[in-house]
Amino acid sequence: MNIILLGPPGAGKGTQANLLVEHRGMRQLSTGDMLRAAVKAETPVGLQAKAVMERGELVSDEIVSALIDAELSAMGKGTGAIFDGYPRTEAQAVSLDELLAKHGRSLKHVVELGVDEDALVERIVGRFTCANCGEGYHDSFKQTKVAGTCDKCGSSEFKRRPDDNEETVRTRMAEYRAKTAPILPYYEARGIVSRVDGMAAIDDVTAAIENILRG
Ligand code: AMP
Repeated sequence: MNIILLGPPGAGKGTQANLLVEHRGMRQLSTGDMLRAAVKAETPVGLQAKAVMERGELVSDEIVSALIDAELSAMGKGTGAIFDGYPRTEAQAVSLDELLAKHGRSLKHVVELGVDEDALVERIVGRFTCANCGEGYHDSFKQTKVAGTCDKCGSSEFKRRPDDNEETVRTRMAEYRAKTAPILPYYEARGIVSRVDGMAAIDDVTAAIENILRG
């Protein structure tokens, strides 16, 4: 099964994708994660993407679609894909259809996580992750049990994304409204879009998504 998680930055796409990976053995394909890895490794793609990402603007369609193509090529055919943060433009939606056909896959669901934008800014600027294991935390909503120590692996190193500041978040949201939300009708026409309340508790969002995938 191949699905898209769609929603503005901070809607919980990554959190829910991680849970689906755990529960269903699916694979998360996050173009944001792939780009951050490329920036860190200072690859040609990373060098090109770094400043664009810091501004909160979108990296070119060609770059992200090539990243997805490479990941799909490397994946076992039987493993379902969760597209997280891709597609983000109409051109990417068209590319994804071509890539899915090329790799013998089809799209079963597009799950849209609906959220209140003002609450999102608070969600995003407060989030941080363990630098060692990647566990996600939040200054207000999910603190570590022992201050300064990761619950999962015990590390005391944490990191924040450089684009998780209020100004960049506002740009990322404007990009979502202008370029990503308009691709919904493309999938609605196929009757594969479902909406979930992304402001609900994490477990409730997961349960709602599971319901859709079982349906
Ligand atoms: P994310 O982790 O999904 O919030 O993405 C972080 C940043 O990476 C975005 O603000 C964009 O600059 C870039 N990015 C991630 N995915 C895409 C995509 N599908 N198309 C264009 N840019 C992307």
